[in-house]
This record gives sequence, C-alpha cells and structure tokens, in this order.
Amino acid sequence: MIQTVKGTRDILPADMPLWLRVEAVAREAFRRYGCSEIRTPIFEKTELFARGVGEATDIVHKEMYTFIDKDSDQTSLTLRPENTASVVRAYIQHKMYNDKAQGEVTKLYYIGQMFRRERPQAGRYRQFYQIGVEVLGHDDPAIEAEVIEMLDWMLKELKITDTTLLINSVGDATSRPAYLEKLRAAAAQQLDKFCDDCKHRYETNALRMFDCKNPNCQALIADLPTITDSLDDASAQHFADFKAHLDARGIAYTVNPRMVRGLDYYTRTAFEIIGGSLGAQNTIVGGGRYDGLSETIGGPPAKGFGFAFGLDRMVLSIPPDEAERLRTASAADVFIVYLGEAAREKSFLIARELRSAGLSVALEFEERKMKKAMAQANKFHARYALIIGDNEIATGMYGLKNMTTGEQESLDLESIKSKLLGG
Ligand code: ATP
Ligand code: MG
Repeated sequence: MIQTVKGTRDILPADMPLWLRVEAVAREAFRRYGCSEIRTPIFEKTELFARGVGEATDIVHKEMYTFIDKDSDQTSLTLRPENTASVVRAYIQHKMYNDKAQGEVTKLYYIGQMFRRERPQAGRYRQFYQIGVEVLGHDDPAIEAEVIEMLDWMLKELKITDTTLLINSVGDATSRPAYLEKLRAAAAQQLDKFCDDCKHRYETNALRMFDCKNPNCQALIADLPTITDSLDDASAQHFADFKAHLDARGIAYTVNPRMVRGLDYYTRTAFEIIGGSLGAQNTIVGGGRYDGLSETIGGPPAKGFGFAFGLDRMVLSIPPDEAERLRTASAADVFIVYLGEAAREKSFLIARELRSAGLSVALEFEERKMKKAMAQANKFHARYALIIGDNEIATGMYGLKNMTTGEQESLDLESIKSKLLGG
C-alpha cells in the first residue's frame, strides 16, 4: 500500500491536543507581546533562499527541495526550508516600514511547514513545523531580551522546565573579516583532520565549522579561536547590554562562544534553547540578529531579530504528566447512553440541543448494553454519562452520572444543561 514519503509523517488525532496546546500558548504569547501573524507562500524563488539563507549553509548547499516551474519561464522554485527570508521579503515587498514612526518596530509571527532534505531521525524530519517571530526595524538589545522573555513564558506555560539558554555574539560585518582570517589560519594547520563538510565550510564560510555536528570536528573546534574574543567595540557593547537586559529580567543563560547559528545572515546576538529530554536533536529554539539580511535580498537596510522553534521538538519536550493532562482535557462533556429504539431517536435530538448550547457531546450510532456503553464513556474520557431509556422519555427526568465520582442523579434537561455548562 502507499505510505508516507521518507522523513514525513502524519500527526494523528491522539497527539493533536499537544500540537494545539503549543500553538495556543504561542498565539497567546504573541497577543501579549504584540506580534501579528503573517502567512507567506510555501514555495518561493530559489534565489531568495540561496541569497537569504546563504550559499555556504547546509540548507542551501544540500537540503533544499528545488524544482523548475514549467509555467514560469523555467524559474527555479524551492519549498521553503525556513521562513525568515520570506518574512523579510514580504516586509520589503509591502514596504511595511513605510507607515511606521521613527524607531517603531514591526513584530511578525508565522506558523507552518518547512522542508529540508535531511537524514530523518527522531526530532528531525523532511517536512517539519516551525513557529517563529521576526522583530524588524530596530537593533536595540532590549528587543532581544524581550523576545527571549516571551519564549521563557511559553516554556513555563507548557511546563517545559528542563532547558538551557545559550547565547553568543557573532560580531558584525566590520569585525568578521579580520577574525575569519585568524580562524582560517588556525584551522588550516589541521584541515586534513576535519570532515569533508568542514573542508567545504572552510572555503566558503569558516565560521560555519563551529556548527558541525561531527564529534571528531567538535573536538578540533575546541582549539580554534572564537569570534567572541575578536568582537568590535560596538558589538561587544551590544552583547554586554543584551546580557544586562537578561539579568534584569532574571533570565538565566550560558555564554557559549562556539555557538554559531546555521544561517549565514546572523550578526551580533545568536541564541539557542536546548532541551534536556530530547536526546541528539536537542535544539528546540534557534534565533538571532540578522541586520544584513534585507540588503542581501535586495532591500533597503533593515534591522532584524528573530527566532524559530521546531513545533515537532516542542511537542516532544512536553513532560509526560502534562502531555497526559492535555490528552484527557480535550474529552467530551457528556456521553449519551441510550437503551431502545425510541431512546436512540430521542438521543439525537438531545445531543443536538446540548451541542447548540456549547457542550461537547459523544454519541454513538451502535446501541450497546449498559456496561459496554459505560466502558465507551470511559474511553471517551467523558465527564458525565447521560442515560436515556423509555422511562426517562416518559418522565422527562434523565440519569446523569458523574464519571469521576460515580454519583448519579435524576434531572430534567434544563438542569442537566446548566449543570454541565456550570463546569
Ligand atoms: P539543527 O541544528 O537541529 O539542525 P538548525 O540550526 O538547522 O537546527 P534552525 O534552522 O535554526 O535549526 O531552525 C530552528 C528550529 O527548527 C530548530 O531549533 C529545530 O527545533 C527546528 N528544526 C530545524 N530543522 C528541523 C528538522 N529537520 N526537523 C524538525 N525540526 C527541525
Ligand atoms: Mg539543521
């Protein structure tokens, strides 16, 4: 039979409460912090990613799903591997900065699928989901701390406590060339020991060597000079201010001078949030500042800072207790048990009435014996069972059983409705 393509998967109903919870918490955070949603196309011109993400990155170098569109003059198109380049493109294309006061920022968020041809494993897929934020228009380090504070709130709300915030500064376009020269000189001495990917990075963008996941390279990298020691004064000051803003908010962090992000366009602040429960694919959130990106894709100068988190990995990070609570919390308010043909017909009408009052009603089309029906009510995690037989129809008084306490009472429909709505 035909199955899903390698690296893709179905998100099944049993897991959906977790996915929806992460999305709801994120949207609530975005409401509180004033971020507006933007939806960009799933595919864009390949050039956008080649330039915006950077030719030297793994993403552009080997992970993109690219195809030629027969309709549009043989233009090369690519399924988006990330969303920052597209959001910045939209920001420029729609001149979103035009109606802004001096220094006013644009805060955008997105939720959606991304595509990368990677080696699939737990927490790493070829179609995966990201939620991200881009704050455009200013380079104040307070923006960076506020964005991280927002992530901190989301993690707490999702009961994900086992995380570490790693931060670094990767300098800017003025300080980097001198540093890269130092780095390349140091790396050149043992270049033959690095993996082939790192040899390629050495040629194209040596900073990327720090991003290598090969344990052998990681050991070699420990001896290379870090950019943090070569920062220009302005970047060093920016980094100090950023840290002070985090301190003022009581947000704990670890400076990791060897943490550089996977994308080429980052300047100054870079950060990651690592999860303790995820195993090898342990980066939940990645983000940073990308002040040069707009110009790279042909726009005017525009400061930017943002992050993306993997929804797949965020869901995997929810602790088991909380995951169980979420799965059962989405249960039905009431499960209707009917006995006999007349009761079955009556049940349909009562179900309609309760549903239009706003209640979640589970109703099955197969009649079952009382014991079986109660087992079904449990399976649906229903809060109550409503019992309808010939007698109940005649008197207008129905049995309402609390599935947690087992208590049962006889009530008319109005009382049942207000009781269920009352919680
Ligand atoms: P990694 O180092 O794990 O490859 P990355 O540096 O490529 O991550 P970004 O491009 O910054 O990650 O994406 C941000 C987040 O998106 C990651 O931290 C991760 O949670 C998620 N992510 C990235 N690639 C994948 C993937 N193939 N499958 C699932 N989630 C992913
Ligand atoms: Mg990656």
